[in-house]
Amino acid sequence: MRTAISQLELLRPRTLAEALAAMSAANGARPTPIAGGTDLFVYLNAGQLAATRYLDLSRLSGLRGIRPGLAGVTIGATTTFAAIRAQADIARRLPSLARAASEIGAWQIQERATIGGNIANASPAGDSLPVLLAHDALVHVCSVRGERTLPMNELYVDYRKLSLAPDELIVAVTLPWPPPRAFAFFRKVGTRRAQSISKVVFAGLLRRGRDRAFDHVRLAWGSMAAVTKRAGAAEHALLGTRGTAADRARARAALDADLSPIDDIRSDAPYRLEVAGNLLEQCLRAEAMR
Ligand SMILES: Cc1cc2nc3c(=O)[nH]c(=O)nc-3n(C[C@H](O)[C@H](O)[C@H](O)COP(=O)(O)OP(=O)(O)OC[C@H]3O[C@@H](n4cnc5c(N)ncnc54)[C@H](O)[C@@H]3O)c2cc1C
Repeated sequence: MRTAISQLELLRPRTLAEALAAMSAANGARPTPIAGGTDLFVYLNAGQLAATRYLDLSRLSGLRGIRPGLAGVTIGATTTFAAIRAQADIARRLPSLARAASEIGAWQIQERATIGGNIANASPAGDSLPVLLAHDALVHVCSVRGERTLPMNELYVDYRKLSLAPDELIVAVTLPWPPPRAFAFFRKVGTRRAQSISKVVFAGLLRRGRDRAFDHVRLAWGSMAAVTKRAGAAEHALLGTRGTAADRARARAALDADLSPIDDIRSDAPYRLEVAGNLLEQCLRAEAMR
């Protein structure tokens, strides 16, 4: 049933401690965090959310902002994609993240949508997620028990299920700067060139050693399984090779073992698998020609 917005309760903490205390309430009384609201409001407006208590994260200034450091960059959970898209260090050193940020929805969405919301929403089509996986991102979460850090590739356990306790908030994500000379690639394929939800989304990060063989390979896909995931068999097939046509063919064939796309309203499984292979080929060819 559609819920009148006026019947909803909104908690507006000013400090992280207040927010975490609210999250530590018993089941039923625990509020649902709301950041940009771009995912939540769709369901709220359709009357599909049972929750009536919400926790507004927008006043927690410590959760917002981009902090570049020597080893990498830490991005607060409520940082918007508009801010990420515009940040100079990110544009220069993490071009795939800048690109993903600039292809999420339209500008209006990018002004509100946050990176923490994208991670927590856990859609297999979330566009920043393959980039975070390909860059070995670390996700920082907090509860009244303290802070802990999880590698991005341990965050998703099943369709829209995160390995977080119900009272934990995502507070930030850290991306290490890519290794020197690494090549980064991002491509989203949707129904049209802009403003569409991904049928397939891919991020790759590759580096060659002195002998020209690949010594660092990360290949991550969205919309190709119940969760955004790295393609371990394809990565393994490329590691230590020079990416010849035969190496590329072996990696592409390995994708069958890595990915398990479904048929849904946006696309079907055979098409998705074909596109995933094409994107891998495109990435490897672009890397070889740079
Ligand atoms: C028109 C439109 C177009 C869109 N296009 C795209 C697109 O192209 N690509 C894409 O990836 N997404 C797209 N989205 C989805 C959405 O914009 C993103 O997933 C966005 O990043 C969500 O962030 P938010 O801050 O708005 O999250 P919210 O809606 O505020 O929250 C989303 C979920 O995350 C939880 N949450 C939020 N922050 C935290 C936190 N810090 N800790 C714990 N839980 C938290 C909330 O409880 C909720 O369950 C689109 C949405 C719309 C409406």
